[in-house]
Amino acid sequence: MNSFMQTDTNGVLIRMLSIAEDARRDQTSTGERSLMPRDLISMVLRAMRIRDPAGLLHGQRIAVISSGVANLLGWTDEQRRQLEVAAILHDIGKLGIPDHILRKPGKLSSEEYDFVLQHQHAGVNMLQALHTDPTVISMLTTLHHDLSGAGHHVEGHVQTVDLPLGPKILAVADAYDSLSTSKPYRRGMTHSECITAMQEKSGQRFDENVIRTLHRWYETEGNTLFRLTESFHDPERHPEVTAEQRDEVAMLAQFIHLLFQFQHLYDGYYILDTRENYCIWSDGMHGITGLPVQNVLRRTWQTSDVLLSPLTEEQASPPEHDDTLIAHALKNGRPHFGSRLCRVSGTRHLKVDVYTLPITGPGNKIYGVAQLLRNRSGVRRKSREIVELQIAATRDPLTGVANRGQLETQLRHLLDDFQVQEGTRSLSTIFLDVDHFKRINDTHGHQVGDQVLVDLARLLQHETYSAEIIGRYGGEEFVIICPDTDLDAAVRRAERLRQTIMKSSIGGTSTLSVTSSFGVSTARSGDTVQSLLERADHCLYNAKATGRNRTCRESEPVPGSQVEAPAAEDDKTQLSEQNGLYKFSDRITVSTSLELTGMKLRAFITEYGGVVVDQETGKMQIQLGTPGFFQRWGKSAARQPVEITISFETTRFSTSAREKARIHRVVTVDVKSRGKVPNMDVFAARCLSLIRDLKAFLQGT
Ligand code: GH3
Ligand code: MG
Ligand code: MG
Repeated sequence: MNSFMQTDTNGVLIRMLSIAEDARRDQTSTGERSLMPRDLISMVLRAMRIRDPAGLLHGQRIAVISSGVANLLGWTDEQRRQLEVAAILHDIGKLGIPDHILRKPGKLSSEEYDFVLQHQHAGVNMLQALHTDPTVISMLTTLHHDLSGAGHHVEGHVQTVDLPLGPKILAVADAYDSLSTSKPYRRGMTHSECITAMQEKSGQRFDENVIRTLHRWYETEGNTLFRLTESFHDPERHPEVTAEQRDEVAMLAQFIHLLFQFQHLYDGYYILDTRENYCIWSDGMHGITGLPVQNVLRRTWQTSDVLLSPLTEEQASPPEHDDTLIAHALKNGRPHFGSRLCRVSGTRHLKVDVYTLPITGPGNKIYGVAQLLRNRSGVRRKSREIVELQIAATRDPLTGVANRGQLETQLRHLLDDFQVQEGTRSLSTIFLDVDHFKRINDTHGHQVGDQVLVDLARLLQHETYSAEIIGRYGGEEFVIICPDTDLDAAVRRAERLRQTIMKSSIGGTSTLSVTSSFGVSTARSGDTVQSLLERADHCLYNAKATGRNRTCRESEPVPGSQVEAPAAEDDKTQLSEQNGLYKFSDRITVSTSLELTGMKLRAFITEYGGVVVDQETGKMQIQLGTPGFFQRWGKSAARQPVEITISFETTRFSTSAREKARIHRVVTVDVKSRGKVPNMDVFAARCLSLIRDLKAFLQGT
């Protein structure tokens, strides 16, 4: 599931458009008005069963509870069917959530919870493309938006309207089932404990009357829930997963993930096919244009839906509308980015950034268009968004431990401390590589291989101390950073881990015996991240060469000899100064498509109040900050003006043989100072924090 995070924007959108197109054709030809096309609902349920069977069962129980409650409240059969489908699909967004959060054994942190909620929104938006009944979509939108505590606001209005009953029933049924089910970190509550717990919190989210009705339903029909659980445990119902089904899971995950990116980077977006049929109208578009999703679902685009006009200094007269963006994109297949005024209602307008992205396939064939809008005057939830981006950017999606970038960042900090303390404290690294991992994959399959990595990461986390940092360096290689640990102690640590791995039943297959080889190095004065890890890697190589399942330590340095100067690319001096003009250069590796990288970059520019001074394919020149009257650099970033040139490498390549499956793209960042810089350190600090922020944007999810 490593490719989980990589997004080929056009490829994903083309598949989504083709599914939407098939569903539409199906419905018009058969005249059938089902809640969702039959083969699409089967596909979604199949995917949910593969990805999260417990979650699917949870959805089925909510369907039974909701339907029973609605029955007592006098709902018609048709209305109850809508409620049941909404219940089963209510966690659809989870299909797009990486394993380290979906399968996290403990409680989610509030950032992680937020992250899940954002994916739920994206999942519900995806349901539009799958031609799901509008009432079902609207119930789920209310459930996730207005009843989740996160809330969404239509521009300028705080919503005080009474919420519809359907989502309220779903919210109570959902909470009831979650509370009554045992979790790894707490036992399930009894029926009366659940009712009491919800009554204590009754109000907007948990409706009093619904709770009372649920209690009434339980007394007469509650035992239907137990029958459901039993039938689900029937092994007949867990057939083998085919490659085709695995592909469906990956495709749905990518859809949701891409929509999450869209809503994350922009305030609203919509997607049209070549005939201008709506495929998706995001929740955010309601706030920007005043048009709710019910008004656009299942029809074609009209110019009056999104009224954009050029930005002019004078706004006395009503501006002329410019409705050519969509038409041009569909005709010439070229993306367009610019600022516009968007009409919200009557005479009210919003200043927006508009990104019109034609969806093109091989041979530049045009499949549709996506338009993304960002409210320029709106308050962006900046800090939270960056936190979200960072969680995903720092962890390995398969195992949940630190990824390579994070590992190197942490090691760099620790090495800095080490150098400052001039060798009074120690710092060691352990490099670990699974023995004959390829054979494990070949004999037992890739899935077992993945499970070995997940189990191994768990074991390492379990066996190490809190100050130690574990990270996945690449495929089946892990690194453990041990602060305040000298070489001897680190070797003992490695030996203990080696023994534990050898004796454990990693991978869950009895015929499988997993061992690992270890290399250990300890920091010396003058070491860089690169040189320290290289020595550990070298020892690891020796361990492999001398028989595997062993630990090798580096030899003590010869007294008096100097550590070699760092020769690695990464550590080359990137800073220079000439006649008061300071320059800095760095490279950021990203694994997303060019479009998505461009979108993230634009989000960064907007967020930091930058100005694009020049732009051509694959290259962009930006100014950040303004020089003051004296042209002298001040204390804040806004008073430390720089000019940044960003170039994208459009070719795909992989950095090393061990990462051959990954697609990498290099973004080169050149920073030049403007105005008078007091000294190199100030400039360096500015550039480093800039690069850090830019990385959070570009590498996030
Ligand atoms: P050695 O004992 O010399 O380390 O042999 P090895 O087979 O472990 O080493 P090699 O580097 O030849 O093979 C590593 C394999 O790991 C190749 C690659 O297919 C597999 N691999 C890399 N990443 C993943 C992953 O995320 N999941 C799975 N299942 N396999 C992976
Ligand atoms: Mg190996
Ligand atoms: Mg290897």
